Amino acid sequence: MARPTKAIIDLSALQHNCQLVKNLCPQSKNMAIIKADAYGHGAIAVARALEDMVHGFGVAYIEEALALRKAGITTSIHVLEGAITTDEIDLAAEENISLAVTNQEQKLAILAAQPVKPLQVWLSVDTGMRRLGIYPDEMAKMFNQLKACDHVQDELVITTHFACADDVGNDFTSEQMRRLNGALEQLRSTYCDSAREFTDPPLSLANSAALLAWPNTRAEWNRPGIMLYGASPLLTPHKIADQLRPVMTLTSAIIALRDVPAGETVGYAATWRTKAQSRIATVAIGYGDGYPLQMPSGTPVLINGQRCPIVGRVSMDMITVDVSLLSSAALGDEVVLWGRGLPVEDIAQCVGSISYELLTRMPLRTPRQYIT
Ligand SMILES: *Cc1c(COP(=O)(O)O)cnc(C)c1O
Repeated sequence: MARPTKAIIDLSALQHNCQLVKNLCPQSKNMAIIKADAYGHGAIAVARALEDMVHGFGVAYIEEALALRKAGITTSIHVLEGAITTDEIDLAAEENISLAVTNQEQKLAILAAQPVKPLQVWLSVDTGMRRLGIYPDEMAKMFNQLKACDHVQDELVITTHFACADDVGNDFTSEQMRRLNGALEQLRSTYCDSAREFTDPPLSLANSAALLAWPNTRAEWNRPGIMLYGASPLLTPHKIADQLRPVMTLTSAIIALRDVPAGETVGYAATWRTKAQSRIATVAIGYGDGYPLQMPSGTPVLINGQRCPIVGRVSMDMITVDVSLLSSAALGDEVVLWGRGLPVEDIAQCVGSISYELLTRMPLRTPRQYIT
């Protein structure tokens, strides 16, 4: 006996998507972003599946990096938000975890630290996201300060993050590139009068959307996240994005079937009413399993390859589906909520959300089943 609800995680699809990333720009290093438990897919399993294919992993904060080290992941790991408290600096150096420097305080803490080994650092520049990162006109000075520090590793990466790269018609990505290039120009000019030799620092700019839609953002390091999991980050179709394969397929099964007369309501708060006699399937998944409460009536699920609409309110452990047009529907039939044949980005749109949120909100209650 086992409840049929599970998130099937297809690791070969993950590797296929990673290969697409690599083919896009073979000369770049890729940092697979696996924050938030690899967008709900399981960070350790995802890291193991990708460690021979990428140059590093990116996470949001150091606890996520330490959990990966504890699981035996030896690939380089970068903390996108940098150190929140100063004790994290020594820990990061010990564990070969690289830290973003996103403000003056983090820079000062790193300069004042006495780590056991030189620390790998990325300098994060705010070119328009207005969230983290130093101002472009602070970059040259901070870069040189960090560069001169003995316990900061020589390869100092400059990084920025785009706000609107998912929208190919939005020019803000180009504007952010202009701001970054202005700061790089300033940095070069600080070296003009000095005898020191200067080569442009390595850059890390592109997330998935930029990687796909803005080729001039591809650099020494890319930072793909969502596309590894097989969801397109773009608002419009794209030749490469269309080749991505969904990694997570959320499935459950029909646990009850009944004929409901015309004019009857279905579910909590009686939000939906049958127009004619209808065959209603009850499926063993609800908001307690990561299927959003707000999902509206009409949202499709896949049963035997056919799209059928959910009807009525999502319960904690169940949903109801109108299978009147699917005469073959039977007890025990598999139901796909999203994934194979039903893109998570489309389902997210039904509920006014994005694929990222649906994936990362997958609770532990829903078992992950890994397939290769
Ligand atoms: C989450 C994140 C990424 C990955 O973004 P995707 O849209 O999932 O590809 C890249 N860079 C930073 C700084 C991030 O926070």
